[in-house]
Amino acid sequence: MRKKIVAGNWKMHNDLQDSKNLINGIVKGLQNENVNCEVIVCPPYTSLSEAAGLLKGSIVKLGAQNMHFEDKGAFTGEISAAMLKSAGCEYVILGHSERRTIFNESDELINKKVKKAFSRGLKPIFCVGETLSEREGGVTNDVVKRQVIQGLMDVPEPDLTNMILAYEPVWAIGTGKTASPEQAQEVHAFIRSLIKDLYSEQAAGKMVIQYGGSVKPENAAELLSKNDIDGALVGGACLKPDSFLGIIKSA
Ligand code: PEP
Repeated sequence: MRKKIVAGNWKMHNDLQDSKNLINGIVKGLQNENVNCEVIVCPPYTSLSEAAGLLKGSIVKLGAQNMHFEDKGAFTGEISAAMLKSAGCEYVILGHSERRTIFNESDELINKKVKKAFSRGLKPIFCVGETLSEREGGVTNDVVKRQVIQGLMDVPEPDLTNMILAYEPVWAIGTGKTASPEQAQEVHAFIRSLIKDLYSEQAAGKMVIQYGGSVKPENAAELLSKNDIDGALVGGACLKPDSFLGIIKSA
């Protein structure tokens, strides 16, 4: 049995005070709850240290939203894996579609980040997914296959247990259009079979594959009931304690 994992990607939202309020709301809401899934929050860089302090003693884990692939140096504005570790992060989101499209991140660059994250003891939440025109053009599986193969290039099998793969159809992110549970399940099953081909049946069986794209309390239970959907990567609905807690309860 794979554990379910629900992660919240705060994106560029919440100053320090808003971050404290949101973390406190989540932690308070989970007190006295029998939570069966893993929970991760990914605030902006400026709130990470504060969040780490507030999360001490709670079941909620901390992640960042991006990092650079070099350890240090003249990379103005960038943040390294070691910096994230020292701020208290266990996870880091890599390859999010907003990084791929707005910041032109290539599969090759994302692969460098994935490998660096592993080597510094951070667990990647590695995102893949097709655009609307790619889906309509019937190339969803081809696109996802390329992103998985290239993003995981030279990643050894034992590392796979220290990562999450997130399938996030770009057309469903922040649009209110969710992939139907059947559409999502189909791609998740494809990704799992790909992991089996690239690695082994055992690796495929253990791989946690989250779905992301307009997940909300109202649709989470049905999505998460599918065989190959092992959790959710949540954007908009993670910014209010009640809606994030609703998704956690569904899981
Ligand atoms: C995301 O940004 O990863 C995401 C899934 O966003 P939303 O839930 O808002 O679609």
